[in-house]
Amino acid sequence: MKEVTSVVVVGSGIVGLSTAWHLLREGVSVTIVEQSSVAAGASYGNAGWISPGLATPLPEPSVIKFGIKSLTDRDSPLYIPPTTDGAIMTFAARFARNCTRSRWNTSMKALLPLNEGAIEGYEEISSQSNHQDGLRAKEAPILAAFYSKSDASALKEELADIVISGGTIKSQELSGRDLAGQYPYLNPNVSFAISLLGQRFIDPYRYCLSLADEVTALGGELRFGERVLGVEPTHSGATTRLSNGETVTSDAVVIATGAWTSTLAKSLGVKVSQAAGRGYSFWAASEEQIDHPIYFPAQRIACTPLDNGLRVAGTMEITGTLEAYDSRRVDAIVKSARGLLKGVNLEERKHEWVGPRPITEDGLPLIGPTKSENIWVAAGHGMWGVTYGPITGRLVAQALTSKRLPSTLRPFSPLR
Ligand SMILES: Cc1cc2nc3c(=O)[nH]c(=O)nc-3n(C[C@H](O)[C@H](O)[C@H](O)COP(=O)(O)OP(=O)(O)OC[C@H]3O[C@@H](n4cnc5c(N)ncnc54)[C@H](O)[C@@H]3O)c2cc1C
Repeated sequence: MKEVTSVVVVGSGIVGLSTAWHLLREGVSVTIVEQSSVAAGASYGNAGWISPGLATPLPEPSVIKFGIKSLTDRDSPLYIPPTTDGAIMTFAARFARNCTRSRWNTSMKALLPLNEGAIEGYEEISSQSNHQDGLRAKEAPILAAFYSKSDASALKEELADIVISGGTIKSQELSGRDLAGQYPYLNPNVSFAISLLGQRFIDPYRYCLSLADEVTALGGELRFGERVLGVEPTHSGATTRLSNGETVTSDAVVIATGAWTSTLAKSLGVKVSQAAGRGYSFWAASEEQIDHPIYFPAQRIACTPLDNGLRVAGTMEITGTLEAYDSRRVDAIVKSARGLLKGVNLEERKHEWVGPRPITEDGLPLIGPTKSENIWVAAGHGMWGVTYGPITGRLVAQALTSKRLPSTLRPFSPLR
């Protein structure tokens, strides 16, 4: 089989950039084609957690327990707007079928190798790069906080299930004076917390910009503002058709287009149903210096220290990719967060943003060859694409250059 010496990577989110970086390090010539600019999709305004201790498959029994009714409530953290879109309805039906305990256990086992390699994936890139400051992930615990101890039972069960599946997470419980004394920015009504130790976080946009600089420094070509219309196999590789009429030939193509992936991948035999799990975020100033992420699991709100304040992120709105920003979803986050945080100015928000989490019907990413062995997909990382970006890039680059598919990637086959 022909050696892979040139690859087109479609998409410059965390997954595309990480894949490009690893391919370049393996001596492959790389062109990234991006319809917009660096991190124009979900990789821009997300919470930036590298949290293998929390990364689990999205379809789980509690989603059904939570109630189909709440899914249509606009203020609910998980919301499916009324739709006649057949693709979304198919997605919702298939997703619901995957919300079983046994399916969760199988998927969790498949994700474990990615969880185990996630932090190392970040360390590998920062230790071997020139732009080390922008590429350094900060170590910090994630503080999961609750109004009451009983509210924490779902998270505790989930952490126990992760351990039963073979994962590891160190945690510490806090309540009463310990909690109030150490975390003055929690509202006094918040009476119980679990500190998840040894996690990391980044400013995702700055990280992607630094990684793009690193890709350029390694000789990669970045072409912005050009949409890929199609990718087709040739006898020895693939051609990529661009919106400007040009075609680019290469030995292989990696489609890393996040929530846009089904458009390009459908004709390549990828039938796994996908949707955009749109999340929102904004920035708010904080009176106190906060140096670690805070998670409110019951409200599904994630807070990350950024620029002397907090990025507050949340909600999951299942739609196609491109629907307009809906300010009522931000209002729903603010309403929930008001009772949880103290000294954080939620009324004067900046940088309100919406981005599409690339979610799949079974909660597993799509990583591997399509029906054409030279055209790969690396997408569908859902809630955890930041955590899994660098490790995905490494696995894809190694598999493409060695022409050997590691067993770790088999459960993620885009053709499953
Ligand atoms: C509110 C929120 C909070 C989150 N928090 C976390 C977190 O704390 N930790 C975590 O691990 N994950 C988190 N995530 C999930 C994470 O953001 C995503 O899983 C991840 O960014 C996906 O990266 P990606 O590179 O696959 O896709 P994207 O970042 O969406 O990149 C895809 C790129 O492809 C480009 N593209 C698409 N189609 C084409 C085309 N035809 N031609 C050329 N270019 C194209 C797009 O413009 C885009 O730039 C969060 C997501 C949201 C929305």
